[in-house]
Amino acid sequence: MAGVEGDGHSGTAGAAGTATDRVERPKPGRDRPRVVTEESLAELALGPLLDDLLARIRDALNADTVVILLAEPDQSELYAAAVLDFEEEISERVRVPIGKGFAGRVAATRQPVVIEDLEQADAVNHLLRKRGLTSLLGVPLCLDGDVVGVLHVGSVSPRAFEPADIEVLEGIGERIALAIGRARAHQAERRAHERLAFLAEVSHLLSSSLDHEETLARLGRLAVPRLADCYLVTLVDGERLVPAGIAHSDPQGLEALEELVRRYPSALDEPRGAGRVVRTGEPELAAAVHEETLAAGARDDEHLALLRRLDMRSSIVVPLGVAGRTLGALALAVGPSGRTFGADDLRLAEDVGRRAATAIENSLLHRAEHEARTRAELLQGVTERLAGARTQRDVAGVLVREGVSALGAAAGWVALLGPDGRELEMVAAVGYPSDVVEEYRNIPVEDAIGAQDILVHGRQAWLESAEEVVARFPQHAPAYGRMGYEALAIVPLEVGGVRMGLVALNFRERTTFEEGKRAVLLAVTGQCSQALERARLLDALAERANAAVVLAHVDDGVFQVGADGAVRYWNPAAEHLTGIAARTAVGRPVGELLGGWEEASAAIEVGTRPGAASSGEAVPLVVAGEERWLAVSGVRTPDGTVYAFRDLTSERALERTRRDFLSTASHELRTPLGAVYGASLTLVHRELDEEQRDAMLDLIVRECERLTRIVEDLLLANNLDLDHVHVALTSADAVALAHEVVSVRGSTLPEGLTLAVDSNGGAIEVACDPERLRQVLLNLVDNAVKYSPDGGRVRLAVAADDLVARFVVTDEGIGIPAGEQRRIFEKFYRLDPELRRGVGGSGLGLYISRELVRRMDGRIAVESEPGRGSRFVVELPLAR
Ligand code: ADP
Repeated sequence: MAGVEGDGHSGTAGAAGTATDRVERPKPGRDRPRVVTEESLAELALGPLLDDLLARIRDALNADTVVILLAEPDQSELYAAAVLDFEEEISERVRVPIGKGFAGRVAATRQPVVIEDLEQADAVNHLLRKRGLTSLLGVPLCLDGDVVGVLHVGSVSPRAFEPADIEVLEGIGERIALAIGRARAHQAERRAHERLAFLAEVSHLLSSSLDHEETLARLGRLAVPRLADCYLVTLVDGERLVPAGIAHSDPQGLEALEELVRRYPSALDEPRGAGRVVRTGEPELAAAVHEETLAAGARDDEHLALLRRLDMRSSIVVPLGVAGRTLGALALAVGPSGRTFGADDLRLAEDVGRRAATAIENSLLHRAEHEARTRAELLQGVTERLAGARTQRDVAGVLVREGVSALGAAAGWVALLGPDGRELEMVAAVGYPSDVVEEYRNIPVEDAIGAQDILVHGRQAWLESAEEVVARFPQHAPAYGRMGYEALAIVPLEVGGVRMGLVALNFRERTTFEEGKRAVLLAVTGQCSQALERARLLDALAERANAAVVLAHVDDGVFQVGADGAVRYWNPAAEHLTGIAARTAVGRPVGELLGGWEEASAAIEVGTRPGAASSGEAVPLVVAGEERWLAVSGVRTPDGTVYAFRDLTSERALERTRRDFLSTASHELRTPLGAVYGASLTLVHRELDEEQRDAMLDLIVRECERLTRIVEDLLLANNLDLDHVHVALTSADAVALAHEVVSVRGSTLPEGLTLAVDSNGGAIEVACDPERLRQVLLNLVDNAVKYSPDGGRVRLAVAADDLVARFVVTDEGIGIPAGEQRRIFEKFYRLDPELRRGVGGSGLGLYISRELVRRMDGRIAVESEPGRGSRFVVELPLAR
């Protein structure tokens, strides 16, 4: 290759390359171009290289102008890359379509083109004329068969370029093309290096932190302005796209970008941009962003204005994909710097996107793991605290304290539904003044904020600000406003689908309830709901156990009758009072246990709550074959009717005794008193003979004796009651005693009645108080005579076996009905208290007899048949 004729400039040694080491003096002829370009090849950046070349070319060819145009990569146009002495007319902006004008023709024909007289030529750029050029010589710059540009020189004065000039310019052109090729290759290599370095930095950055928000912000600072002017990372959050990293090369641009993101967030369904890229996983490259594209993508005029403010000229959107999933999109754009994104940039961006996605996923996984661990620890703590909580109140306390602290709330409360489901009871509260807690202790469901909505529909409330609270629960707006809280969270407490209450948390600040926070409260609430239910069951069990203990110890009989009429519960007192065991009673109809229940139950009052019924009507019921007077009252419960009863039999008997005593005593005392009074009056007022007077006095004496006996009986009965009667046991002959009694009583027998002793004659030594025994036998014989108004035989039999002496008094009188036989031994009890049969008596004889016989360690019994007679038996131990 030849050197270029020198112009006084000396070449400078290149920093690299073998062909550039030589420094040669410029020589004329074919060698000229070599010097120019060889030296210039040392310049690696194309711009300065071309600028430097221009002067040398002008001098070498003695031209007035020199222009180097380069072809666009797509070979459609030429643009001026270096211009000498033509600067005023030609700017960077000049574009020449290939095939058009002078330079375009050189590029299209790939041949040197000479114009000797511009005036004669047609279809040349007017700028050439404007510069006043007359002659032109242009050669194509070819590299590997492609036209990479055009080099032309011009002369103001007419000039005929010679073949030698053409050859020289072609030679220079070849060198320039080569230099361009090298420079471009170098540029490409440098950019590849830059990319690699950038990627290395990105990798380092992405692996340096597990906080992806922080990482994405730093990635933005790395990408802007090296890669782009505008940077935006969008992440998928459920169904939404949320901005996660944002950067811009100038403050106004950043402002516009932030506003754009805030007001017009990307959506998954949009036809272009982040939404589409996330949806399809396919990247987007817009080498040039045209006005029409902006207008088509804008949602309204303001959107369009914002997009225009960003002034994006070229853009790339790539997916953030990892393991087949797209986590979001990375968008890059360049502004008016003139750069254009190409395939290399897209590849780089895709690579960055993949690396960023991995880092984001790591961060998310780490965060999820961390949250899960924190949650597990929290729940473990709650479990421990719940272990010590026994009552519902304790559990609610744990729930509200843990909820408040885990979510950073200012206050919180837990309320449980009352049994009727219409009222809430606040069982735990934290962070409220005590008077407020007191005021809201029991409130109807409709008055508690959110309760209706949450308890009826099971909806949770996650309201991030006071405005949201007021919008959802307008009726609580004034009260909520007064409290001065912002955010509010309310969730139901439920177990097995049954809602039993709610927990509410109040926050002083606006609060975002992201998924993690919600999960924590829901987990604690779920755990506590279980514990609340457990505590409720335990309470109920304890209550039942208590109730059972109480029922086991009350004196009143208590039983429960189910809706089917069968006994479901029978307490120990009921067992005791009726003699019927609970296991026998339970499951059977009441009527089978208490005779006459059906008739009696009509008289039993049943209330709807305890105490509503009166103290209980005494009704006669047959218990184990015996009539008993029971005072029964009932209370209806959801599970049937609970009856309580007490046995009034003895009270009734006492009452009856009192009545009997009054009627008997008044009769018994009045009769002899009347007789004494009558006889006394007769003695005073009437003239009586001796015999009549004696008869009167005799009557007075007899009646007084009778009065005395009655009074003595009364005294004795009373002393027996008080246990003041002492018996002195000794040995006596039972047969002799029987004879004595019969002879005493036998002296005054009514007509038609006989009285005799039955015995085999031998003496029977009996252990007794002889005076008391005589009194007993006399009373029995007396009764036998008294209650045999139609006469008959009365016998007093005496016999003995190995152990006892037996006295049997038999009569053929009126007899005693079976139902009364036990009662005749009661005090004042008389079968015929009204004395319809005219037989008097105190009703004390048999009572006194029984009590005396008992005190002598014996027993007394009766057998009788009405109308046929009676048989009284007294047994006493034999004397030893
Ligand atoms: P009273 O003073 O009435 O005889 P008692 O205690 O001796 O009192 O007897 C109580 C009641 O028992 C009598 O009122 C009578 O109705 C009945 N009674 C006692 N003995 C006989 C008998 N042998 N035959 C029929 N009834 C009798």
